[in-house]
Amino acid sequence: MAEENARVLVIGSGPAGYTAGIYASRANLKPVIYEGNQPGGQLTQTTEVENFPGYPEGVQGPEMMDHIRQQALRFGAEIRSKVVSKVDFSKRPFRCEDENGDVVWAETVIISTGASAKYLGLADEEKYRGLGVSACATCDGFFYRKKDVAVVGGGDTACEEALYLSTLCRKVYLIVRKDYLRASDVMAKRIKERENIEVLFNCNTEGLFGEDGVEGAHIVRNLGKDNEEHFDIAIDGFFLAIGHRPNTEIFRGQIDLDEEGYIKVEGATTHTNVPGVFAAGDCADPRYRQAICAAGTGCRAALDAERFLMEHEQL
Ligand code: NDP
Repeated sequence: MAEENARVLVIGSGPAGYTAGIYASRANLKPVIYEGNQPGGQLTQTTEVENFPGYPEGVQGPEMMDHIRQQALRFGAEIRSKVVSKVDFSKRPFRCEDENGDVVWAETVIISTGASAKYLGLADEEKYRGLGVSACATCDGFFYRKKDVAVVGGGDTACEEALYLSTLCRKVYLIVRKDYLRASDVMAKRIKERENIEVLFNCNTEGLFGEDGVEGAHIVRNLGKDNEEHFDIAIDGFFLAIGHRPNTEIFRGQIDLDEEGYIKVEGATTHTNVPGVFAAGDCADPRYRQAICAAGTGCRAALDAERFLMEHEQL
């Protein structure tokens, strides 16, 4: 078991973690970044990013994350493809242990562990995971070229995934539990205009079926109403796009979380209730969840950590 000290330990990557790395390394704090299970975070699973300032023509999500990562490396951030699995925030320096049992004693910690896709909770999602069930169209859409698929959800993510899949697949069903799309108007308009997308409003998925993989889904329309109706759709792929849950399980009991598991921060700062522990990005943001916001809070967290170290005369 190896042990080391760090002035700033960043747990998690993505725009928040890497931006914290840029600022902390430029402040000569020699940050150590544990990238976690998904280096680069959610944007590595997306295609075109059109709303991040500085890219007038848009940029591919993975490419943009690599740019931010390279920028952090350039100023000396140490980036490791490892996962922090246990923390003890009861006293400083904070004890943070990785999956191999190696320990970092951190003067400050910046948490930027992001959020992960939610599932419906159907037993069939487990049964067919990797056999037709996916929460990432960009990662898995390729396998469904010229086939029929369904996307669950009515938000911007679901619309984006459905539009992407419609360029590869023969037909895309969009399964929406309400009678409207929650997505932005521009997305909703694009969905309406795409000929091979059929929106199933007021519909929920009851289960999936198939021999060796997904061959279809059992759907119920108008659940619990007089005109409740059950029918099946034939599909090869079933994509979830119903929102995200913050990746904060390992911090439960160590810092204050809200009822959904998001890390609570003080006002517009990145301070958690534990002095010296800061939170940035989607793990602390149930509201905006945008890459640019995550990058902004990553910057704030590094500045907050720097100020904290200065006040505690550890610079
Ligand atoms: P949202 O929370 O916005 O939408 C989740 C969708 O899933 C809703 O339609 C919701 O239905 C539905 N849903 C949730 N639980 C279930 C369930 N159990 N069964 C069926 N349907 C369910 O999440 P998104 O991931 O779409 O977006 C998150 C944020 O990121 C938003 O602010 C969004 O605008 C933003 N975003 C922006 C993009 C862009 O600008 N390019 C791209 C992607 C995301 P209901 O409406 O009934 O609650």
